[in-house]
Amino acid sequence: METIRTVAWMKEKVKEARMDQRVIGFVPTMGALHAGHLALVERAKRECSPVYVSIFLNPKQFGPKEDLSKYPRPIEDDTAKLEAAKIDGLFLPDATEMYPPGFSTYVHVGGLSERLEGKSRPGHFRGVTTVVLKLLEIVQPNFAYFGRKDAQQARMVQQMVRDLNVDTGIVLCRIVREADGLALSSRNVYLHPEERKAATVLSCALRAAANEIGSGVRDASHLQQTMHKVLASEPRARVDYAEIVDSETFEPVVRLGRRSYAVLAVHIGKTRLIDNLLIETDGEESRTEL
Ligand code: AMP
Repeated sequence: METIRTVAWMKEKVKEARMDQRVIGFVPTMGALHAGHLALVERAKRECSPVYVSIFLNPKQFGPKEDLSKYPRPIEDDTAKLEAAKIDGLFLPDATEMYPPGFSTYVHVGGLSERLEGKSRPGHFRGVTTVVLKLLEIVQPNFAYFGRKDAQQARMVQQMVRDLNVDTGIVLCRIVREADGLALSSRNVYLHPEERKAATVLSCALRAAANEIGSGVRDASHLQQTMHKVLASEPRARVDYAEIVDSETFEPVVRLGRRSYAVLAVHIGKTRLIDNLLIETDGEESRTEL
């Protein structure tokens, strides 16, 4: 596996693949790779060749009081995992390669970027969409793979790609979880053992909502109350938001539509965790995916 550190070399590599009419797959990450990231890589490998993964801890998507300085950076472990996954190349630029002096252009997705995660983390999505567009311009993949764990982020990337006519298909992959339901996240390493136990409350709250949907509940405020009740049962949990939203607009819904998300952001101690449940309903029929 080749490690590529410059934009120019990355562009050169994919130019060859494009000339050979190959289908380029791309998985952007911030490193500290876990089975959730690797599931995206495996899916990309089933559907594309070559497959490139980027590791770039993007400073522009962290607020001044957020965890950029303590975010885990186990680059040797990450490289070993990607070697084992047999990808074609790792794009590993540093911050000045991505943002040379004088950098001054940002991508803003209106509306979507102001809600939920955008509201709680001002400037976060501007950093995300800016770096993702840059990465898509550099790699020009046929398909880029994102996790539903960050559902709002993936939806914004889809919107950006559509609005700016970017020739990349955005593929959304299901959430990979620990056996007890906790969604895998690079930030889970921050949790102390007691907090780690408490963190299962997020998936418990989503499962409680899913059970009610299964038994016919369609009223969003009822489902929200259920989630809040479960979250309130865990003293270490401080809720940022627990809402039912439309899967396209991320606006709150009154009643479940065809496709919605139950979305959660919860602080466990100093660690902020997010999770969601995908909900599809059609009259009496319903399907939920945790
Ligand atoms: P990150 O390194 O946190 O920026 O994540 C890189 C990609 O991996 C994003 O598309 C995430 O949504 C995805 N991802 C993170 N955690 C999971 C998970 N538990 N299951 C599936 N995808 C995930």
